[in-house]
Amino acid sequence: MFVSGINGSDRSFDAVLIGAGIMSSTLAVLLHELEPQMNILIVERLNGAALESSSAMNNAGTGHGANCELNYTPMLADGSVAIDKALKINSAFERSLEFWASLTEMGRISPNDFLNILPHISFVWKENDIAFLKQRYLRMVAEEAFSGMELTEDYSEIKDWMPIVMDGRNPFSKVAATRIKRGTDIDFGALTKTYLKLLKESDSVQVKFSTEVKTLRKDSKGVWELFLQEDSKSFSVEAPFVFIGAGGGSLSLLQESKIPEANSYGGFPVSGQWLICEDSELIEKHNAKVYGNSLVGAPPMSVPHLDTRWIEGRKALLFGPFAGFNTKFLKYGSRLDLFRSIQIQNIGTMLQVGVENLDLIQYLVDQLRQNDQDRIDSLRSFLPKARNKDWKLSIAGQRVQIIKRTSNGGTLKMGTEVVSSSDGSLAALLGASPGASIAITIMLEVLRSCWSERMSTEEWQSKLKKLLPSYGKDMNEDKPLLLKVRDRTNQLIGFP
Ligand SMILES: Cc1cc2nc3c(=O)[nH]c(=O)nc-3n(C[C@H](O)[C@H](O)[C@H](O)COP(=O)(O)OP(=O)(O)OC[C@H]3O[C@@H](n4cnc5c(N)ncnc54)[C@H](O)[C@@H]3O)c2cc1C
Repeated sequence: MFVSGINGSDRSFDAVLIGAGIMSSTLAVLLHELEPQMNILIVERLNGAALESSSAMNNAGTGHGANCELNYTPMLADGSVAIDKALKINSAFERSLEFWASLTEMGRISPNDFLNILPHISFVWKENDIAFLKQRYLRMVAEEAFSGMELTEDYSEIKDWMPIVMDGRNPFSKVAATRIKRGTDIDFGALTKTYLKLLKESDSVQVKFSTEVKTLRKDSKGVWELFLQEDSKSFSVEAPFVFIGAGGGSLSLLQESKIPEANSYGGFPVSGQWLICEDSELIEKHNAKVYGNSLVGAPPMSVPHLDTRWIEGRKALLFGPFAGFNTKFLKYGSRLDLFRSIQIQNIGTMLQVGVENLDLIQYLVDQLRQNDQDRIDSLRSFLPKARNKDWKLSIAGQRVQIIKRTSNGGTLKMGTEVVSSSDGSLAALLGASPGASIAITIMLEVLRSCWSERMSTEEWQSKLKKLLPSYGKDMNEDKPLLLKVRDRTNQLIGFP
């Protein structure tokens, strides 16, 4: 049985998780499966779950399996295409599918509540992009993970894959596309709510909405005290373990914790916008996620794509995201967020990263200058016949890219990073993509950093292997294992 030194009073918990988005809810489900008696409190500043980045309208809903995202397979200086990152992301996503398959098998969740199956397509129309796509295809299709990838330069075949994208194009113009049919669209907001509903059935997990964590500090016994505000009421709770899963709010809380590891980090906010289709006929005719190539200087999360989505069960069609800049770290945050995050320890790194990423800054300035017509013009490179009246602009989620001080100076990191204290009592998740899709892999990293003793017990190991039959093994190194995992997942999740 789990033993906590501070159990017993209503303000003491075994673990406090900050934020009710996909990350904290995934960690809560994992911890609850491993240790059902663990007394967990989730604290959320807004009045519901998944209202920031995890909301379906705030992210692109791509189950990032690296099937179609061209930024995961960069071209190297020698002209070859690197696919190691794509392989890593693919197996991390396969692990998410494996987790959902297990919860489905146990009768805890139903994948239909949050997951839809649809092809992932990469589509290019410039000569150098076509050459890149062909080379990328040859590298990827040789790997079991991507063996289902198809490539074509044939106009009518591509038209068959995505009629509305080819409608109005010159049949003699050069185009190329790859397709993997085993792709997904995921409503991460619905998934978060599914997890929280699952946890509600137990007495040991509580969720407190409309309550903001203002600050936190560690007392002399090594226990974290968190200071909370609910309307005008202030109070505190304590726990020996804290996870900061506050999305864009994580950096400031990490800085508040005063752990030395926090000093290496700063953040750079990138906002987003979508064009949302209002023509039901067009929505019905499209059935794919279609990713193109990004512009020079564009951050990877701004690769334009035309996506079929299912948002709260309704089919939709979105184009974007268009990147932008404002100084908030959360969509419902404050314009002072960026300025408050600048501290004596990170100002040098932040300035250096700014100077070294002028391409990105120029790109964001250009995006900010765009008007409605410019955005429709970008859409027309995907949908030549797009009509202004069918599309309306909507605000997406806010991302905070990681700025990190390393031995080589400051770097701007595009992925996610778990930052944990040396004693394992606190972990925070910084950064963005490919976040939600691989939440289970990220949360396993949190467990390894902060719960290493429990992780090595036979009890946790056997529970983990039940939840994730491939746990501890590398699917990319073991082809029969990958096939076995996929076979099980396909049956349980319902992939054809
Ligand atoms: C435009 C865009 C497109 C994206 N596309 C994809 C995609 O296609 N696929 C994919 O896998 N990922 C995508 N992502 C990334 C994905 O959305 C994130 O990785 C994921 O939602 C992060 O989840 P989270 O739980 O960490 O954060 P969030 O969902 O932001 O949740 C954090 C929660 O913490 C709360 N909070 C903050 N501060 C406090 C505080 N002090 N006290 C209490 N509560 C607090 C917030 O209110 C919020 O509810 C995209 C993101 C954006 C912005």
